Amino acid sequence: MGEFDLIARYFKRPARRAALGIGDDCALLQPAPGTQLAISCDMLVQDRHFFAGVSPHSLGHKALAVNLSDLAACGAKPLAFTLALALPEANEPWLAAFAQGLFELADAHDCELIGGDTTAGPLNICITVFGEVPVVDGRSLALLRSGARAGDDLYVSGTLGDARLALNVQQGKLTLPAHLLTAARERLERPTPRVGLGLALRGIASAAIDLSDGLMGDLGHILECSQIGATVQVDRLLQCVACRTKPGSAEIETAINLSEEQWRTLALAGGDDYELLFTASPSQRAAVAHAAQTSRTPVHLVGQINASPGLRLLDAQGRALPAHYASFDHFA
Ligand code: ADP
Ligand code: MG
Repeated sequence: MGEFDLIARYFKRPARRAALGIGDDCALLQPAPGTQLAISCDMLVQDRHFFAGVSPHSLGHKALAVNLSDLAACGAKPLAFTLALALPEANEPWLAAFAQGLFELADAHDCELIGGDTTAGPLNICITVFGEVPVVDGRSLALLRSGARAGDDLYVSGTLGDARLALNVQQGKLTLPAHLLTAARERLERPTPRVGLGLALRGIASAAIDLSDGLMGDLGHILECSQIGATVQVDRLLQCVACRTKPGSAEIETAINLSEEQWRTLALAGGDDYELLFTASPSQRAAVAHAAQTSRTPVHLVGQINASPGLRLLDAQGRALPAHYASFDHFA
């Protein structure tokens, strides 16, 4: 199978919203009047972001999910994406499963594949997504990292740390009972981009970011861009680690033998969570609860934004904890 057959068989579908889809030198995309394009690009590299044996269906899902997560963090509505693919070989069962995982998520978000590039080489997947954000009275409704203000509440969505738990198992650092490993692997391999929540938070959240590298580092980006500080209630964060507690109870899962310090590391520096971290004025608490409800996304209040710079961690008794949890950095 040649390059163009491969594209035609696995990736080319009739254009829907795009003015011109796959097949010419450029795709043509017409943003709706009164909107801006939100654009983001994320690359997945074998042995860096995933292991060789990972299911191609999951990989197709994750490659797009991490990109949709960036749109979610900006409060942008997904429109379209491009796919640059380096493949060691044209393995048809692999391509069929990859395309299925990719298009299932794309269709769920009405996000259309409009172009890309295909080349032979070590497996590498690079997606660029395009989303739409309204501009009202000359002001963009995009959620930015720079909008947090002293006194704002600090929230995270969903669950934290479970993806890292699965990674630790794959790296042979610990073992998990089968039912917990299944749940943790789902979080690592098939993250849920919080697109609905991001859209619902437009005009409510003051700042937002998606959690890809671990909360400490990603919150650090908000603090730096907004030039403020924050206090995080670590016991509240620990309640966001799904594998830590038994479903429907506050009881700690004793089948996972981790120290309190290890649980904190998972929640604070886990990475690969693809949850939203956002801030909002306390006057918006009811609106935040409503956004969580309409988007069917759990949201947890985990701290506050302060005028004094720096990131402070507190335990359940309000005592300071050391803030030495490092986020992921490819070149650190
Ligand atoms: P060019 O050489 O002009 O860059 P190509 O021959 O690489 O174009 O690609 C032909 C068409 O197929 C283009 O419309 C391109 O966007 C599309 N395309 C190539 N690879 C992919 C892919 N992996 N997924 C979707 N579209 C692709
Ligand atoms: Mg060309």
